[in-house]
Amino acid sequence: MATTLGKKSAAKNSSKKGAGKESKGGKPGRMIYYFGAKQCDGDGTMKSLLGGKGANLAQMTKIGLPVPPGFTITTQVCIDYYKHGKKFPEGLEGKVASFVKLLEKETGKKFGDGSNALLVSVRSGARDSMPGMMDTILNLGLNDDTVKGLAAATGNPRFAYDSYRRFIQMYGDVVMGVQKRHENENDPFEEVMEVLKHELGVHNDTDLTEESLRELIKRYLHLIKQRTGKNFPQDPFVQLLGALGSVFGSWMNDRAILYRRKYKIPDEWGTAVNVQSMVFGNMGDDCATGVAFTRDPATGEDVFYGEYLVNAQGEDVVAGVRTPKPVAEMADDPMFAGTYKQLEKVRERLEKKFGDVQDFEFTVEKKKLYMLQTRHGKRTALAYVKIAHDMVKQKLMTPEHAIQSADPDALSQLLAPIFDQADYAAAKNGGRLLTTGLAAGPGAATGQLVFTASKAEELAHAGKKVVLARVETSPEDLRGMIAAEGILTSRGGVSSHAALVARQMGKVCVAGAGGIQIDYAKGTLNCAGQTLREGDAISINGSTGEVFAGGIKTADSELLQVLIAETMKPEDSLVYQYYAFIMKLADKYRKLGLRTNADTPEQVKHAIAFGAEGIGLTRTEHMFFEGDRIDAMREMILAESEEVRRAALAKLLPYQRDDFEGIFRALAGRPATIRLLDPPLHEFVPHEAKAQADLAKKLGLSPEKVAVRVAALHEFNPMLGHRGCRLGISYPEISEMQVRAIFEAAAKVQKSGIKVKPEIMIPLVGFKKELDNQVELVHAVAAKVQKETGEKIRYLVGTMIEIPRGALTADEIAETAEFFSFGTNDLTQTCLGMSRDDSASFLPHYTELGIVKANPFASLDTTGVGQLMQIAVDKGRKTRAGIKLGICGEHGGDPHSVVFCHNLGLDYVSCSPFRLPVARLAAAQASLGKTY
Ligand code: ADP
Ligand code: MG
Ligand code: MG
Repeated sequence: MATTLGKKSAAKNSSKKGAGKESKGGKPGRMIYYFGAKQCDGDGTMKSLLGGKGANLAQMTKIGLPVPPGFTITTQVCIDYYKHGKKFPEGLEGKVASFVKLLEKETGKKFGDGSNALLVSVRSGARDSMPGMMDTILNLGLNDDTVKGLAAATGNPRFAYDSYRRFIQMYGDVVMGVQKRHENENDPFEEVMEVLKHELGVHNDTDLTEESLRELIKRYLHLIKQRTGKNFPQDPFVQLLGALGSVFGSWMNDRAILYRRKYKIPDEWGTAVNVQSMVFGNMGDDCATGVAFTRDPATGEDVFYGEYLVNAQGEDVVAGVRTPKPVAEMADDPMFAGTYKQLEKVRERLEKKFGDVQDFEFTVEKKKLYMLQTRHGKRTALAYVKIAHDMVKQKLMTPEHAIQSADPDALSQLLAPIFDQADYAAAKNGGRLLTTGLAAGPGAATGQLVFTASKAEELAHAGKKVVLARVETSPEDLRGMIAAEGILTSRGGVSSHAALVARQMGKVCVAGAGGIQIDYAKGTLNCAGQTLREGDAISINGSTGEVFAGGIKTADSELLQVLIAETMKPEDSLVYQYYAFIMKLADKYRKLGLRTNADTPEQVKHAIAFGAEGIGLTRTEHMFFEGDRIDAMREMILAESEEVRRAALAKLLPYQRDDFEGIFRALAGRPATIRLLDPPLHEFVPHEAKAQADLAKKLGLSPEKVAVRVAALHEFNPMLGHRGCRLGISYPEISEMQVRAIFEAAAKVQKSGIKVKPEIMIPLVGFKKELDNQVELVHAVAAKVQKETGEKIRYLVGTMIEIPRGALTADEIAETAEFFSFGTNDLTQTCLGMSRDDSASFLPHYTELGIVKANPFASLDTTGVGQLMQIAVDKGRKTRAGIKLGICGEHGGDPHSVVFCHNLGLDYVSCSPFRLPVARLAAAQASLGKTY
């Protein structure tokens, strides 16, 4: 078949004049790009079209690294495949055939040739790497005939038949769908192999002779026929088309979809497919395969880091089937000492050329090194700050890249707890240390032991902390890994699936703890003579690899000890120093201001340590719950006359004044946006009979009266009820008291020589007149207090934009408002007509169905809510050119939303103190043009 197609030579289609000059997008309609010694059509900049793997294979080819030749089918073809109801776009088959020709020419081999067959791998490769999420097929081109040729050509029949059986297994699984049918079933091919090994009385795959491999192949082919009713295809071109279809198909498998949700990769990107001539790491003891990082991705240390397996194929390392050797040992292995020298050079070259730590795959065929993949290495947050710090200083990485390549969300890992020193020591001395595995994901995790992903999810859902223990993990375990505090495996190395995923998700992970035996059927974990059962407490230290029986208390991270508890000095913490380096760098690029949502002087202090330049939101109502203030508050609410209400408010005034005084002092001259009372009053009163009776007694009222008043406060839809500025308009004396407290505090602090910058914020404004009403009151009280105290206070009055009418009439509102702060929590609720607190019953399903891309309460709905914000910004500025603009919803700490706010031209974002490092970095990325 291949010979009749492909008349138009591929060389013509991908003529050199096109290749070099092409823009990043490539020539429109061009479906395939070649990479090889004589012709290389793509390069590292073309990730969106060629996928990360394809673009970097081309780039490595371009800089002269030894890459087996091949070609890349673009992501656009995948997109078209889905557009056309899962059919190849027209002309693809012909194009593929012609590129196969080109590859045959370069390699001097032929597809389906009985004595000299071209064998290829078919590899998926999306724009961002999705490790292990989609399927790869190796040794394609083998059949009953070519396997004989391979046996003869290599003089190694065992190798040939082993390759063939691997191919049948992968193809049968991935393309023909012969897989295990539920979680507790074994892989059917593995099962067939186990049976045969048992019959033959051998233990390792490597003990299977040529003859037994042939028998295994027979059984595999039979299994496929039995399960699918179809024969395994013998025509290599048919094999290739089947494989292409299934790689495209794998873009939409559950694993891949789940992964994209987690990492917010759009479904629309599609995957590219790489067809690459095979090299063999499994031809004998002078062959090997490996995975390496140019630096340690867990700690960031500047050491060559990785592992290799002798006489094995690539998948074996990642699958964790055999435990590989550290790459450093290659240097002392006479067989591979030369290869190691080459690898060291590659390591240097990669970092220099790609400007970041590289995670690469290599294979050694008869001592010759081949590069199969490279990408920016995924790393822990700890490794990120260290590597960025080191490589920028070594001038290997640009400062821009150091910022751009960060995952801001992951920074919160640096705040995650470590073990409490005393409890940790007690566990060690108490003989609770079971074993030590590989430190694959730093941090401390303690929780209930579980063995399956589903159990991990179930318990985590019920609010329990769990540690997921598996012999090895596979992509099906992803849900459970997300749910768990930590992950423990008994098999596999530092590039095993568990380690890879843990690193990326920032999970605590101990991998390859070989001293442990896990028995799924019995639900036990055995180690050092002890037996733990499902549900027992277990603790793991992902920074050292230690596994402990029982729970261990956790303690503050180093960063918190330096910044918050101040129990550690900055000069004693390297982590802190790397973190500070990155933050300083971020501040160099950041244009957005950074504020915090804080209600107490202590929170303000923490926020400033994290880089806050002011308060974006103080929720005054939080202050009413402390101590016996709530009594005065309740008295005020239940009052039936203004007089009684004023008396109760007078009791609250000193409390509020003290609160604001503390906040102004902690701010030391930074601005503070203070919101007047917002929640509906019923939130402050007791609803149970007993509590109501107690309150009645305290206030000298009858219990009935209290009950009646509480009942009167009941609202059908409190979120849209008597709250926000509606309260201040109904009960001006409440606003008066709050404003007085603010200004009295401001005057006092200012008098003591500390600057104050109050910004009074009126909530829930939809009509200009609402705002006018309250602003007039603010000015009146402010004037009075200034007169009384003799202190002139500079202040602003503005509003929260949090209901659509406010946004739509922002031009009118800006006549009065000196600033807007987007209250995107309520703005999202009211724009979407969706109550946040009631959304749990349907929103997860919406996310699953792809109706919403992300939870709109966590990540701003930029197309909907964002439009209201844009309108408000435009209209507000039209009326008042210099109007101050900020956001104080929880979205202020979400990287996507921060980038949106930057592009909207807001002055600042505000978020909770602990999200500040994330927002700080995201804001810098926004300045550097980050898009999502
Ligand atoms: P993943 O997306 O999971 O990284 P890959 O496409 O990289 O999948 O392929 C899986 C494994 O197969 C890798 O370990 C790689 O080294 C190996 N492999 C892929 N292509 C070839 C090839 N042409 N020759 C030899 N090994 C290959
Ligand atoms: Mg790979
Ligand atoms: Mg609100």
